[in-house]
Amino acid sequence: NLSGRLAGVVKSLRGQARITEANVQDTLRQVRLALLEADVALPVVKDFIEAVKTRALGQEVLTSLSPGQALIGIVHEELTRLMGGENADLNLAATPPAVILMAGLQGSGKTTTSGKLALLLKNRKKKVLLASADVYRPAAIDQLRQLATQVDVSFFEAGDERDPLKIAQAAQDHARKQFYDVLIVDTAGRLAIDEAMMAEIRALHAAVKPVETLFVVDAMQGQDAINVARAFNEALPLTGVILTKLDGDARGGAALSVRHITGKPLKFIGVGEKPTGLEAFHPERMAQRVLGMGDVLSLIEQAQGSVDMAEARKLADKVKKGKDFDLEDFKSQIQQMRKMGGLSALMDKLPGAGQMAPPAGVDDKSVNRLEGIINSMTPQERRKPEIIKASRKRRIAAGAGVQVQEVNKLLKQFEQAQKMMKMMGKGGISKMMRGMKG
Ligand code: GDP
Ligand code: MG
Repeated sequence: NLSGRLAGVVKSLRGQARITEANVQDTLRQVRLALLEADVALPVVKDFIEAVKTRALGQEVLTSLSPGQALIGIVHEELTRLMGGENADLNLAATPPAVILMAGLQGSGKTTTSGKLALLLKNRKKKVLLASADVYRPAAIDQLRQLATQVDVSFFEAGDERDPLKIAQAAQDHARKQFYDVLIVDTAGRLAIDEAMMAEIRALHAAVKPVETLFVVDAMQGQDAINVARAFNEALPLTGVILTKLDGDARGGAALSVRHITGKPLKFIGVGEKPTGLEAFHPERMAQRVLGMGDVLSLIEQAQGSVDMAEARKLADKVKKGKDFDLEDFKSQIQQMRKMGGLSALMDKLPGAGQMAPPAGVDDKSVNRLEGIINSMTPQERRKPEIIKASRKRRIAAGAGVQVQEVNKLLKQFEQAQKMMKMMGKGGISKMMRGMKG
């Protein structure tokens, strides 16, 4: 499966200290294969690989501290972007009742998903009415009625009415009069796309003017799911897509293609037959799942975006060689930490670093002052802090506009940092900076 394949690629990349152009090409070939095998549509794969390649062959990866991680970071970012970037929730901004119209082929999961959405909205304290405009199969109406009972929301009884348009309009009237917040209209589907079916759903759309027109599609259909999505998207103003049956052995490629092909957000995924089997779709989490990794990613991303990698590499090299860590390094370390969102943010994200105490007193507020003090020192003092005695301290304090105690405090903090760096020099830091978990 996709996750397995990509996790393999990720594993082989993690910790790679050197990446060449050939290396990048080879990795992208594997990513490409994994995506194609997972039924991601070909044009989507092409665009995706192109975007990653452009970024990877630029400065970003080749000059980074850990190129393997940087490349994984780019793949993750581009995957997230491919799926729309952020979660798109239901839009219910309409004069009540907000109407949700369900569209899709027969068997895609429209009726089941109608029940799931009703439950979700009921849990959000909405008053929900379910109505079935699937007049061709009596069993379909029963199915929705039973689901309504099961999740305990109202069901619109259409009596003898056999015209889907009239049923939908009557349901809307009823919902308006009874102050329902949301009306979900389930519709009929065919086994394949045909003109009569498209005409009917278009007429329904015109009659009830839904605020959400959700296209429900079965992930097990693989490449076909995308072709059907394209056809519906051309026939109807869809507002979102729901991909069902992702709990089965669907290869999941449709989740990656839908947004790119239709331009419409994937809002939910179906992960089971029960009414609770519906999940909000989060591109970032899906990308993470696909690449098989944890929270470490956000740290890598942050590092990529904000840290001067050449600077960080210099520091890491120095520590590795056991060279003295001086105040100049201390200053650049402070600056890097600030760029990454402060010391506390950094410590939170590093697995295992949570137990490590940060140098006492180095909090996010004091870093400006620390920098100011270091700036008031001569280059010689920065390289050899031990020469800073009373008279030098007074001069530095005056230059930085602080009390002498502040200078003392900084020197203490520096000593602690120096100790920590020596500790990490014994194998800790390179591991830490490479992204921790092997
Ligand atoms: P409709 O014809 O579009 O209304 O499809 P249905 O809602 O009747 O669903 C068709 C079949 O798919 C039923 O057996 C459902 O239980 C099943 N189904 C729907 N959604 C999911 C899902 O997310 N996961 C699984 N495993 N089965 C689903
Ligand atoms: Mg149905």
